[in-house]
Amino acid sequence: MSKYLVVGAGLFGAVFANEAAKRGHEVTVIEKRDHLAGNIYTKEVNGIQVHQYGAHIFHTSNKKVWEYVNQFAEFNRYTNAPIANYNGEIYNLPFNMNTFNKLWGVVTPKEAQAKIDEQRAVLKDKKPENLEEQAISLIGTDIYEKLIKGYTEKQWGRKATELPAFIIRRLPVRLTYDNNYFNDTYQGIPIGGYTQIVEKMLDHPQITVKTKTDFFDKKDQYLADYDKVLFTGMIDQFFDYKLGELEYRSLRFETENLDVDNYQGNAVVNYTDAKTPYTRIIEHKHFEFGKGDKDKTVITREYPADWKRGDEPYYPVNDKKNNSLYTKYQELAANEAQNVIFGGRLGQYRYYNMDQVISAALTTVAQEFGE
Ligand code: FAD
Ligand code: UDP
Repeated sequence: MSKYLVVGAGLFGAVFANEAAKRGHEVTVIEKRDHLAGNIYTKEVNGIQVHQYGAHIFHTSNKKVWEYVNQFAEFNRYTNAPIANYNGEIYNLPFNMNTFNKLWGVVTPKEAQAKIDEQRAVLKDKKPENLEEQAISLIGTDIYEKLIKGYTEKQWGRKATELPAFIIRRLPVRLTYDNNYFNDTYQGIPIGGYTQIVEKMLDHPQITVKTKTDFFDKKDQYLADYDKVLFTGMIDQFFDYKLGELEYRSLRFETENLDVDNYQGNAVVNYTDAKTPYTRIIEHKHFEFGKGDKDKTVITREYPADWKRGDEPYYPVNDKKNNSLYTKYQELAANEAQNVIFGGRLGQYRYYNMDQVISAALTTVAQEFGE
């Protein structure tokens, strides 16, 4: 039996803590925030679950992960179908026949494909090397200008030509009239919210949890007191930024309680122009099919923000420069921190979705316990 310290009570830390405790180890979890669940934290307001750190929709094609997460919550049948508001014009997302019809008046897949081909000709068969080229190559210049450029440049705080292509490949492009934002086999929102998932994972006699506790207040002591540490905070901060800072993107959430029944008619509305300072507004009750008090709703505006030390690092910026610095931190970790495992979006500096976090955490568990 070993003594583990888990730094961070987000999804990665909770899966690892649960699995270690189930194998008979003693686990202490410390979390610097005053609540559990990291960025998937949800809280009940007026009878509905409010996603405190932005819209979280669980989706996966990994059956093992889906079955795993279903042990901790029952999921509703929510299917994400955001809409885009470009200066008052409304388009369906992701990019599909509904979008192409509204934009170009095309009706058949063949007509839509012809329009895309005509517009992507500006690239002259060049292999896309950045987000702008990748977007134009996938759906042409009109959609790029109206639905991607403004949103992307405010979200990431840099030109689309300076961003990696993979970011836009997260979104499906379809020649069908299908507004489902994801291609995955399984999708939904946990009935009763996400926080219960982490609470249940951490509810074990072998696990002790301490919130409002920052690892860096007593780093050396923690490292001396425990056999092994699972660290899900920022890997560059762990090493006191000694090889330089990794870049992150931050966000500011502005939540409002309104005395109206239905504010925007959809859970997620993206504002894709460059001028509106927020990227999206979410109306939480629509994740639960209008549940909660009548004549009341809760909305959250999501404002992208530059990151500086002390801010919440919501997104890693996985471009070449940062990925190469991250590799150097990995080497440092292998040489100087053999008793520390780095996990999660911040510890592994990867743009992980929740299902990928669970999968990565289960892989770490298998490696750690030799299975
Ligand atoms: P986190 O949730 O960040 O947990 C890390 C924890 O460690 C935090 O609680 C932090 O406070 C704590 N910590 C850090 N440093 C210290 C320290 N020094 N001492 C103590 N504690 C510390 N995924 C999806 O699958 N679907 C979605 O729809 C989706 N939407 C998203 C929307 C937004 C706006 C964002 C930002 C993310 C979204 N994600 C989504 C991704 C999802 O949030 C992550 O995959 C997941 O939360 C990552 O879990 P984690 O445990 O790695 O990190
Ligand atoms: N994106 C866009 N317009 C939209 C939605 C997304 O240009 O209306 C781009 C943007 O660059 C974003 C990326 O697609 O960062 C991935 O979108 P996703 O919804 O996966 O972003 P996340 O939920 O991770 O913030």
